[in-house]
Amino acid sequence: GGLPRFANDPMVDFTRPDHRAAFPAALAQVRTAFGTTYPLFIGGQEVMTADLIPTVNPAKPSEVLGQICQAGIPEVTRAIAAAKAVFPAWRDTPPRERAQYLLKAAEIARRRAFELSAWQVLEIGKQWDQAYADVGEAIDFLEYYAREMIRLGAPQRVGNAPGELNHYFYEPKGLAAVIAPWNFPLAISMGMASAAIVTGNPVIYKPSNITGIIGHHLMEIFKEAGLPAGVFNYVPGRGSVMGDFLVDHPDISLIAFTGSMEVGLRIVERAAKVYPGQPNVKKIISEMGGKNAIIIDDDADLDEAVPHVLYSAFAFQGQKCSACSRVIVLDAVYDRFTERLVKAAQAYRIGPSEDPANTMGAVADAAAQKSILEYVALGKQEGKLLFESPIPQGEGYWVPLTIVGGITPQHRLAQEEVFGPVLAVMRAKDFDQAVEWANSTRFALTGGIFSRSPEHLAQARRDFRVGNLYINRNNTGAQVERQPFGGSRMSGVGTKSGGPDYLLHFMDPRVVTENT
Ligand code: NAD
Repeated sequence: GGLPRFANDPMVDFTRPDHRAAFPAALAQVRTAFGTTYPLFIGGQEVMTADLIPTVNPAKPSEVLGQICQAGIPEVTRAIAAAKAVFPAWRDTPPRERAQYLLKAAEIARRRAFELSAWQVLEIGKQWDQAYADVGEAIDFLEYYAREMIRLGAPQRVGNAPGELNHYFYEPKGLAAVIAPWNFPLAISMGMASAAIVTGNPVIYKPSNITGIIGHHLMEIFKEAGLPAGVFNYVPGRGSVMGDFLVDHPDISLIAFTGSMEVGLRIVERAAKVYPGQPNVKKIISEMGGKNAIIIDDDADLDEAVPHVLYSAFAFQGQKCSACSRVIVLDAVYDRFTERLVKAAQAYRIGPSEDPANTMGAVADAAAQKSILEYVALGKQEGKLLFESPIPQGEGYWVPLTIVGGITPQHRLAQEEVFGPVLAVMRAKDFDQAVEWANSTRFALTGGIFSRSPEHLAQARRDFRVGNLYINRNNTGAQVERQPFGGSRMSGVGTKSGGPDYLLHFMDPRVVTENT
């Protein structure tokens, strides 16, 4: 009680002069902090290491933002020891009190929203609105999970047999490893970390090295919120050096991972092994990739469908797990739809996200650029190139906005996650085939459909088997509480971040029965 009902953080509003002015000011402010070396944070103390990795502006890689200290095995060992030392006290801290730290953190993140957004524009190349939305989502996770923990924290009376009293309640699992991707560098990290913390599990947090500075800011938010030492430990490091060690460690009881299917499945496999002294069977939350489709029915409103498909496929360079990477178009509207799609795509302006006139920026790093360019070449072999945009000359991890037609389910472009601005267009002979093709990958994350037919919409609700299905709108941008997010099959283990079951994955239920 006492807290106002949860509400999503308002989006940035560029019709407001103060919001318009805040971005350039924040970008300039953030630039003055370039060149900093960011230490680890373990047991409430800063820890420097000799091993450093720079993070750079993807639109201008010669521009180094800062240096990230890298944790090796000694530092991970130390972080686990710090988390272990604080665990009993944190576990026994009342849920309502743990929730207060999240509410405090939300207040701090809100105060710093433009600055945190500006870091994302420069460190990972998000457009202004995309960056601000990520910060807003991080705030939403804090506000929502705080309320969820208060709801779940009160023991429930179960059963009604006379002569006994049964109480059902939850306790934390233990030490949590939180392993995060770079694409929603604040929101996804904050979601997993705040869920672990508020449920009573101390965290060893490994951000992606591509966005280590944003990871550091997340740590600063928790530090300013006054979390006890050891409850949140910031331990960036090379996956190849410390990833397996962290996952295998017997003192870890819970791993919250979001990233690629390859790494996710590796974690699932390694974490199954029980080592001497290990207190728990490890619990794995693993949110992985997607190969998301939007179906365009033959009666779809193309004025709606075209911009929504473009936004779903190309906002933030298509680097969202939810992004549309296949559009399945009914034969009757295929030519009309693709012609309009390409025409609208030609209006995209590609360049540094720092300039709000650009609608698509650089991709995450050189490895992403190389892999995406390979898929562009593959698309030209497998299908028919419908559009390839020009890209800026000179340095920067640029790839063209690419649309490839004539793709069918047996093509690799219809099966493999590209994680970039490459859209495959598929021509389906009828609606049944469209649904069958939509389901024809190993992933099941998001999907979309544009249709005016009640029967087809009912069929899609039933048979289009994805975690998040969107009808007559874009298929990205899930909102905390309103669209609990996550997939099944090879997209995830069936958890829903920002939803009413999420915190339950971080706890073990207990029952106490008293004979009265
Ligand atoms: P990634 O799998 O390469 O890396 C994710 C994290 O795992 C990074 O912190 C990385 O350093 C770490 N890692 C690498 N090897 C490791 C190992 N052996 N042990 C432990 N950790 C290790 O993914 P990415 O490139 O950062 O992110 C993109 C991927 O994430 C895409 O596949 C995307 O679909 C997926 N994603 C999924 C969701 C979702 O909610 N389902 C959300 C966002 C991103």
